[in-house]
Amino acid sequence: ETPKPKAATLVTADQVDAQRRGLMLVLSSPSGAGKSTIARMLLEREKGLELSISVTTRPRRSYEEDGVHYHFVSQERFFEMRDGGELLEWAEVHGNYYATPRAPVESAIESGRDILFDIDIKGTFQLYEKMREDVVSIFVLPPSIEDMKKRLKGRGEDEDAVILRRMETAVGEMRHWVRYDYVVVNEVLDRAYEAVRSVLRAERHKQARSAAIGPFIEGMVSDLQDALD
Ligand code: GDP
Ligand code: ADP
Ligand code: 5GP
Repeated sequence: ETPKPKAATLVTADQVDAQRRGLMLVLSSPSGAGKSTIARMLLEREKGLELSISVTTRPRRSYEEDGVHYHFVSQERFFEMRDGGELLEWAEVHGNYYATPRAPVESAIESGRDILFDIDIKGTFQLYEKMREDVVSIFVLPPSIEDMKKRLKGRGEDEDAVILRRMETAVGEMRHWVRYDYVVVNEVLDRAYEAVRSVLRAERHKQARSAAIGPFIEGMVSDLQDALD
């Protein structure tokens, strides 16, 4: 009689990893809280994480590169993409349009790659409506309004009037903190980064993200039973 194949070998630990669905890590914050800084650190240091590159009609800042930080597009092209169903979500922020292209997100999560979003509150809630199970959201806060103001000025990219408008927007946005999964106060940058990274690492182990985890464990239980019989 041929021995029964070991059930556990049907689904291996490697397959559990390989068949995991990618997650959507959303960082939002009032302007000046340090969200983009934390996002950049994550992308540099965390393997298996890529950025969802938004399209925007906002003018490019001096340090920004087209196709790296954003895809900078005309308003005409933006509406064409939106009306053609190419966008997963879109929003108007500070008088400019921003949106998440759909295709790169879908291909990332289906192939187990995690994707980072630097998007505003309205965009986050639109993602909730479409794919709540895949989204992990973190709200980043400055330690105080004084710090927030200093950081916005220190960034040296925006006129005073723009800074003021961003702060006005922040008032409305901060009231929505309760709909975020996690909240991180960015006082000491390295500590805030560690907190965000911990969320990512923990969420990667959520069992619901792996279709193979059930068969893997059942296989082991069955082997264990055989060994005991
Ligand atoms: P403004 O009147 O110059 O400020 O421009 P708006 O922001 O009102 O709209 C500009 C274009 O964006 C319009 O032609 C609309 O097609 C589009 N738009 C703005 N808001 C919405 C919206 O909530 N839904 C849709 N479908 N289109 C919008
Ligand atoms: P956001 O993307 O939230 O608008 P940024 O990441 O651009 O904010 O940060 C705004 C400014 O504050 C940047 O100049 C950044 O270097 C600085 N910054 C970020 N985090 C800290 C921190 N913990 N302490 C001091 N400055 C910070
Ligand atoms: P900034 O101009 O500072 O790069 O971004 C301004 C705001 O727009 C930030 O709150 C940022 O999170 C948001 N934003 C950037 N890209 C997107 C996007 O694709 N969708 C949405 N909804 N918001 C975005």
